[in-house]
Amino acid sequence: METTKKNLREPIVCVLGHVDHGKTTLLDDIRGTTVAKKEAGGITQKIGATEIDKNTLETNIKNYFKNIQVTIPGLLFIDTPGHVAFANMRSMGGALADIAILVIDVNEGLKPQTIESIDVLKKYKTPFIIAANKIDMIPYFVSSKDTSFKETLSKQRKEYVDFLDEKIYKIINDLYVKGISSDRYDRITDFTKSFAIVPISAKLNIGVPDILMVLTGLAQRFLEEHIQFESKSTRGSVIEIKKEGSLGTTLDTILYQGVLHKGDKIALNTIAGPAVTKVKAIIATGKKGMVEKESIKSAAGIRILITDKLDVLSGTSIIAIKGGKTDAAFNELINESKPDIKLSENGI
Ligand code: GDP
Repeated sequence: METTKKNLREPIVCVLGHVDHGKTTLLDDIRGTTVAKKEAGGITQKIGATEIDKNTLETNIKNYFKNIQVTIPGLLFIDTPGHVAFANMRSMGGALADIAILVIDVNEGLKPQTIESIDVLKKYKTPFIIAANKIDMIPYFVSSKDTSFKETLSKQRKEYVDFLDEKIYKIINDLYVKGISSDRYDRITDFTKSFAIVPISAKLNIGVPDILMVLTGLAQRFLEEHIQFESKSTRGSVIEIKKEGSLGTTLDTILYQGVLHKGDKIALNTIAGPAVTKVKAIIATGKKGMVEKESIKSAAGIRILITDKLDVLSGTSIIAIKGGKTDAAFNELINESKPDIKLSENGI
């Protein structure tokens, strides 16, 4: 049993939060425009997502946290931040993301889109961590960059530590009012009872190792069932559709279950209702750029070329049809509804 239990796919991570609180900057850090890029290799820009492989994850975490054993195959970060994107990226009956990062500007605290994000995360029962961003803006900050929060904190004067505590306590209180019990991650003893707050500075690339460590720890402890690699059925969520002239229709897709093969029949939603088409080609990003693949294993960000000219519905699921049975897939697709939560336009 142990071996099947450890056959895991990468958890899919989405970043949410109020406008200007630092989502894009954090994703840039994760994408490796700073430190990680220099170390290169294990971070690959995928279609619609960024993958950090197991080795890179391990190296980044172990530089600062010795006792963490990485058992997940990596992490897949969705490139488009925001609660609207989060809510539009669905897997059957739930959110596509397995875990999320809620970014809060530590100096501003909870804002309308922070609250909308919390509501959306609660609705889809998605576990999340809180990144308390812009800790470099707190008075008495002693300069530091490209390192962990733990390391940065050890350099700070008492005045800074007190100010930081004050800001974090304010967030803890405001979250409590929203029904969320939280604490700074390094003060939590039971992660089933408290949401973890990781202080970071996305601008100075401080705290990313802590974020990776907490995400990995949570995924390994609480998401193992959820992120079991499943070969019985193959599913993905379409995040962008393009009509590329002679190429036909391309579907940028996050594959979250199973293995997709070139030539597979897939069911998806179109403007005219559920339809079946065939996978003409699978494009993925390899170490040397875009490559065509015969097959691809979840979780992955891929571009699918389909054989038919269809008006595919944005946000649709794709379900591989095995043994010619389309009815069950069509029923699922018909039931797939738009989120009934009202979101503001400016969700990014
Ligand atoms: P988003 O709207 O949530 O994606 O926010 P952005 O990542 O675009 O950041 C908004 C602004 O805040 C930009 O000018 C960033 O440079 C700045 N910013 C982001 N993170 C930090 C941080 O940690 N410290 C400081 N001082 N500024 C930050």
